[in-house]
Amino acid sequence: MASMSVGPGDDIDAWCGKCLMVLSHRIIAMVGSQVKKVECLTCHAVHAYKRGVGEKRSEGTSRTSTSGAVRVSKSSPSKSGKAENEWKVFMAEAPDDPAPRRYNVFESFSVSEFIDHPTFGVGKVIEITGAEKILVIFKEGRKTLVCNRARSSG
Ligand SMILES: [Zn+2]
Repeated sequence: MASMSVGPGDDIDAWCGKCLMVLSHRIIAMVGSQVKKVECLTCHAVHAYKRGVGEKRSEGTSRTSTSGAVRVSKSSPSKSGKAENEWKVFMAEAPDDPAPRRYNVFESFSVSEFIDHPTFGVGKVIEITGAEKILVIFKEGRKTLVCNRARSSG
């Protein structure tokens, strides 16, 4: 570690918040070996010494982002946990045999039928919401799925 041997009156490179650049500054005040106050040689503003623009910013963001990011991701599982409980009630009625029918947009399904979806897993049809739509309850919540889709010979 190289210790700077500078003192008041010396020139030093510092961040100027007015010029928004790292520029030559004159040291005005020091505490021990630390530069505290500098005067910008370009705009002559006197301000606290900052070595670079990134210094203060990295310190602040690391502190706020750790507590902030965790909160967001934690709020969603509690919401889906409620849906999971609802799903478990429906799944309690699910027969072991026959196995749930594989979901396919071309198939037609009826209320109370158990289906196997490639993404959402096993669910139960709770409502026919349209000619080509069914409402299915899955572990992660209710989903509207397309069914009765006519095969196009394309
Ligand atoms: Zn300046």
